[in-house]
Amino acid sequence: MTNTRKKLVILDLDETLIHATKEPLDRVWDFEVYGYKVYKRPGLEEFLLSLTKHFEVAVWSSASDEYVEAIVKVIFPADYPLKFVWGRSKCTLQLNKKAVEESGYSDYSHLNYVKMLKKVHQLGFGDLDNMLIVDDTPHKSQHNYGNAIYPSVFMGDRGDNELLWLDRYLGTLIDAKNIRKIEKRFWRKEIIEKFKS
Ligand SMILES: [Mg+2]
Repeated sequence: MTNTRKKLVILDLDETLIHATKEPLDRVWDFEVYGYKVYKRPGLEEFLLSLTKHFEVAVWSSASDEYVEAIVKVIFPADYPLKFVWGRSKCTLQLNKKAVEESGYSDYSHLNYVKMLKKVHQLGFGDLDNMLIVDDTPHKSQHNYGNAIYPSVFMGDRGDNELLWLDRYLGTLIDAKNIRKIEKRFWRKEIIEKFKS
């Protein structure tokens, strides 16, 4: 039996869909928000349009709510059906255990805003076995292990093709029964091999 409920894909913004920087790169930026020069990840428009055909889509970033709203306004088409757009106010402040272990001490600098997926469930946006979170920063999704897909970090590289591969990979998950039972750590390698054969 296949799963007929559309899955929810929750997208991060910075370094996943865009790269925003105060200091411009060696080329002209795509747009500017709150003093940041913003570069769109290559293939962004195509990726978003493809995604909404088979998935429910939402945005969750740990940046300020105002910044998130401003970025979403520019990169998503006006009539794009977004389930929700969340910023830092929906994140949970938590100690980054890995950073503490590595440094040998613990202070405020090790506090991070993390995204707790159970909040998405609690607020009525679906079941955990039916949602995915796409985030370039694993520790921000550390509580969402079975739901997370980690794309590479986008720093503005014009030759980047991560969204193309991500689109193809997500296509293989449309009918998955329980997203949490699928090994996703090696997603890029898997999908590249699939397309080679
Ligand atoms: Mg990010």
